[in-house]
Amino acid sequence: MKALVYHGPGQKSLDDRPKPAIMAPTDAIVRILHTTICGTDLHILKGDVPTCTPGRILGHEGVGVVEAIGDAVSAFAPGDHVLISCISSCGRCAPCRQGMYSHCERGGWILGNSIDGTQAEFVRIPHADTSLYPIPAGADEAALVMLSDILPTGFECGVLNGKVQPGDNVAIVGAGPIGLATLLTAQFYSPAQIIMIDLDAHRLETASHFGATHVINSAEQDPVAAVRAVTGNRGVDAAIEAVGVAATFELCQDLVAPGGVIANIGVHGHKADLHLEKLWSQNIAITTRLVDTATTPMLLRTVVAGKVDPARLITHRFTLDAALDAYDTFARAAETHALKVLITP
Ligand code: ZN
Ligand code: ZN
Repeated sequence: MKALVYHGPGQKSLDDRPKPAIMAPTDAIVRILHTTICGTDLHILKGDVPTCTPGRILGHEGVGVVEAIGDAVSAFAPGDHVLISCISSCGRCAPCRQGMYSHCERGGWILGNSIDGTQAEFVRIPHADTSLYPIPAGADEAALVMLSDILPTGFECGVLNGKVQPGDNVAIVGAGPIGLATLLTAQFYSPAQIIMIDLDAHRLETASHFGATHVINSAEQDPVAAVRAVTGNRGVDAAIEAVGVAATFELCQDLVAPGGVIANIGVHGHKADLHLEKLWSQNIAITTRLVDTATTPMLLRTVVAGKVDPARLITHRFTLDAALDAYDTFARAAETHALKVLITP
């Protein structure tokens, strides 16, 4: 089968690889219908993720059809259409029993990281009963690829951790796919204002179409002054970090109102300053989280019911044969205006 393979920092290729086989009774083999590229895949290609070793098939998002199941799989049968979670979970260990699937002792984020991933014609999914979700008949399967990772990530790490409530003022720093997924799902709670902050005018324009009440281009204006101007000098109840660099985390500390929450989503590779000399008395909370995908069934229902339309995040479509072009388009997002690129084998 064809597969997009990581060969060490800066190196990837479309290779011929053997079709995966069942290795444990809890495994399923899924034929991929659609997959996509995540910002995390670009981090891997920079060499930032040491658990991902050369020879690994990348990708942790996708939808497909069950091809084969191990003897212990009871929730799925060959032919079932399934959503693949970016988090594999056994459902039985202590973190899983708390709903903290991201820290599963036998899983977590392993797909396209420490085991082969979804940017291929077939993928082996461990703990299939608790790591796959059935796709309702008639659903837009390409749109559901956005539910493997980015929608639950924006919702759980940003909206839920940020305790977004009706009438709140919310700032989302970063209008990439994750920031936009946060923007879409924050609207479940009817916040009064959702202020998007980014350096990219095109992404901010997209954010306006997706429901942002204010957009701030931090290349052109001081985001702290601009947020103060639209919040009656108070700051925001939820300052959500969706970039993953020190400057944006530090900006959130200047945006949060007394009693508010700084909810970090970004993947940070370097340390960031924490200004406790300003924040110690401000009754704020700081949260971090790796997506658990515990809300995936709920998000599936909202998508099927038309309450949120994640297909809006898909800007480009490629075949698996053109996966290298897909990477190039996604990596040059400032020029190509790419958000999510759909790859269809
Ligand atoms: Zn991802
Ligand atoms: Zn577990």
